[in-house]
Amino acid sequence: MVVPGAVTSSVGILGERTFGELRGAVKVNPVTRRLAMEKGWQFGTTAWFLLPAGALFALVVEWVWSDSTAPVCALTIVIKNMGKQTIGAILFDLSGVLYVDNDLVEGAVETVAEARKRGLTVRFVTNTATRGFEEIMGRLHGFGFDAAEEELFTAPAAAKQLIVKKGWRPYCLIHDAIKPDFADLDQNDPNCVVIGDARDELNYESLNKAFRVCQDGAPLIGIGMNRYFEGPDGLQMDAGPFIRAVAWASNIEPIVMGKPGGAFFDEVVASTSFAPGECLMIGDDAEADVGGAMHAGLQGCLVRTGKFQPGDEQVIPEGAEVIDSVADLFS
Ligand SMILES: [Mg+2]
Repeated sequence: MVVPGAVTSSVGILGERTFGELRGAVKVNPVTRRLAMEKGWQFGTTAWFLLPAGALFALVVEWVWSDSTAPVCALTIVIKNMGKQTIGAILFDLSGVLYVDNDLVEGAVETVAEARKRGLTVRFVTNTATRGFEEIMGRLHGFGFDAAEEELFTAPAAAKQLIVKKGWRPYCLIHDAIKPDFADLDQNDPNCVVIGDARDELNYESLNKAFRVCQDGAPLIGIGMNRYFEGPDGLQMDAGPFIRAVAWASNIEPIVMGKPGGAFFDEVVASTSFAPGECLMIGDDAEADVGGAMHAGLQGCLVRTGKFQPGDEQVIPEGAEVIDSVADLFS
């Protein structure tokens, strides 16, 4: 229902909640607003995105309704430079966004379905290093998500891909759950180190061995670079601090496969038919998800679920969006 003086808007791509400059661009013209308020008329804005995703322009039409006739006229037809590209693909982080531990985030399944319904390309992007690829697929399906294998991008898979490509022999400090995924690699006489969320295996002896291999000149691969994650009983240290410790001791820069590594985002974007700026990353990690994505040229959106902490809004780059939950994406 439209009440006198109320502002309504319908936007072609993401519902009434839109992103960045898009939101400003569909604001009702202040002159239109004042005239309508004075007359007690109803008014609203309708925006159509007439050009393909990536176009910089949208047609914005402002309507005014009188008491007797609706609508009576279109006051303004404006071609606006949106200043930001439209969105063709959405990259969903998993843990903390679609589910938290074993609990599904309310409305997450419906949001992913809505994205597909709107013709958006969907990707699932995770740094999870404590579950194998097949197990993650199984969890997605178990929660009710429609997901295909080619839509899932995991940090461990990206790390393995790099090791295979380079022909390296890794010293693996990784969780038992993903060891089978690395079992076919030659791990004798290691000439690279890979560190993931290996939990109790991240001890002095193992980290010191990693340091010595790196000190001899071997590259260090980090499976993601997260400070912490939300566990069942609170925040837990992730692999990032341990990767940093080995890197600092051996005075090298780690190669980050997974978020926030630019190469990882490039790989996911390349799997879509869109440019980085047409892809939106949605995550609960201000630095690894939102900061990493935006640094790689994507758009970013932080959710207030999962590991989100008050104050994270101040950490994300300018232009990033913040929503309470992934369920609010289209509402
Ligand atoms: Mg997360």
